[in-house]
Amino acid sequence: MSQLHLETPYVQSHALGQTLNKNIWLKLDALQPCGSFKARGMAAACQDYLANGATSFVSSSGGNAGLAVAWAGRLLQVPVTVVVPESTKQRAKDLIAAEGANVIVHGESWVEAHGLATEMAQDGAALLHPFESPVTWAGHATMVAEMAQQGPKPDAVVLSVGGGGLLIGVAQGLDQVGWGDVPILAIETEGAASLHGSRMANKHITLDKITTIATTLGAKQVSPTAWELVKSGRAATQLVTDAQAVAACVQFLDDHRILVEPACGAALAAVLNNSDFLADKQTIAVIVCGGAGITLEQLNQWRTEFDV
Ligand SMILES: *Cc1c(COP(=O)(O)O)cnc(C)c1O
Repeated sequence: MSQLHLETPYVQSHALGQTLNKNIWLKLDALQPCGSFKARGMAAACQDYLANGATSFVSSSGGNAGLAVAWAGRLLQVPVTVVVPESTKQRAKDLIAAEGANVIVHGESWVEAHGLATEMAQDGAALLHPFESPVTWAGHATMVAEMAQQGPKPDAVVLSVGGGGLLIGVAQGLDQVGWGDVPILAIETEGAASLHGSRMANKHITLDKITTIATTLGAKQVSPTAWELVKSGRAATQLVTDAQAVAACVQFLDDHRILVEPACGAALAAVLNNSDFLADKQTIAVIVCGGAGITLEQLNQWRTEFDV
């Protein structure tokens, strides 16, 4: 079965390069049809389940993962149910429903929604986890295979981390193309520091709560495989503030005319704010992971709120 995601551009940012006096390359996965890189891994997992006899898909993500499953289900003509918690914004529910998926609102938080989704996953209904799946990681890794065809080998790759699926997929992709020596800088916002907090505590921690507007990065605990990558020194971690992530979204919109979520702005913010980690790196690849949970109105509200 052929892939559902698009090959996205890998372009040099003249604007960022001039500001920072470096070569900044952008992997523009914001341009995927469902608005984020999740198109790669979630669609790959959906196709894998379908090939193994699944007759419907269930997701517990009210964010980009749920939207990607809804989108993939529509293309594959497989019915999709997305169970979301009460806290999920109307716009997210509308986007998922617009893909033809059935949206069920259940429980106060993701834990309850995920519980119901897990119960529903039987008799041919496959449960699509937002980040904990080798098939999903392999799907995300395809972006690095494209980069190796499209542009130069970078001195570092910068990306954002929620549960860690993107990080794991990119690390595997780098190994596959012979770029296993390229360091990875993994970015979270301060209110979603489950990976950075693990590095600080030198153990795999679980956060009590998530306090960031970048809700897409809000996994209380990262995948054990993502923690391994940091523990072994394969990836470094760093935090940015919500305000820095919002400012980066604004600048990215002005520079490149593409609107992205603060979850993606976080990675851009680390580059824009001259992260120490990047000081000795000249060619830097940024994964522009995208995100559909943003409108111009929402960005403007955050600008006001954070005085950006
Ligand atoms: C899912 C997502 C992330 C985080 O990805 P993980 O695999 O959970 O680490 C970051 N940015 C956007 C836009 C996303 O949709």
